[in-house]
Amino acid sequence: MKFDDNHAHTNLSYCCEGNITPKDYAAALRKGDPMRSAAITTHGFAIYFPKELAWSWKFMLDPSIFDEHLRWGNERLLRHLDEVDAFRDDGLLTGVEVEMMDDGRLTVDPKLKDRLDVIVGSIHWLPVGRQGGNDPAEILDLWLAHTSRLVRTGIDILGHPLRWLSAQIDHVPREIVPHVVNLAREAGVAIEINAHYVVNTDADLLLETIRTNTPVTFCTDAHRLDEIGHFGYHRKLLDDLDLTLDRIVMWSPSRRRR
Ligand SMILES: [Zn+2]
Ligand SMILES: [Zn+2]
Repeated sequence: MKFDDNHAHTNLSYCCEGNITPKDYAAALRKGDPMRSAAITTHGFAIYFPKELAWSWKFMLDPSIFDEHLRWGNERLLRHLDEVDAFRDDGLLTGVEVEMMDDGRLTVDPKLKDRLDVIVGSIHWLPVGRQGGNDPAEILDLWLAHTSRLVRTGIDILGHPLRWLSAQIDHVPREIVPHVVNLAREAGVAIEINAHYVVNTDADLLLETIRTNTPVTFCTDAHRLDEIGHFGYHRKLLDDLDLTLDRIVMWSPSRRRR
């Protein structure tokens, strides 16, 4: 069983643990199994903003901060893409994991999109939440509105689709799974099954993508050396659900290659 990992990080992403570089992915790929390709999808906020500003999330509600840092970020991103491209023959691909800011733009310069094989769109922060005392209905409404817009921004993959929501409310309503899969499918966006943040809706999410022939991608979202090329969680999910890979429409970057 071979996998294309379409979501993985290096130490350019502020949340990585220890030193992890494109070279480490290339070394894993040269082994040839179980990882066939790996896209390095650095966080847009880590490329475009210094650490403190990134973690303040201020750019989410004030996208002018993104414009102020555009040149600085583009230089960082281009340097990084060159570094990843040097290992293209080993199976390394370029990418980013981006947020959607308040004005609907992603945290990457659209002019650089043709250098990217994979764009993962994820939610890591919204201006509501458990800590802010918002009630679950309010949190759910804003998350739904945000997700509905995010899938239509030109992203390829909806990263960890239910992770943020699962952390903010005690019970994700059952009907949310088919709803989010439907949103992605209608927008031509793949659903990610993410091994770095496991949530209890993953099995339902996978089954719904199979039921509806929605493209899926199994990703490690590696943040540490020992997560590179590890698809044990996905294998277990397949075993537990008594599924084989041929039942799944796997998304692959060659489908979009700009
Ligand atoms: Zn993420
Ligand atoms: Zn990630």
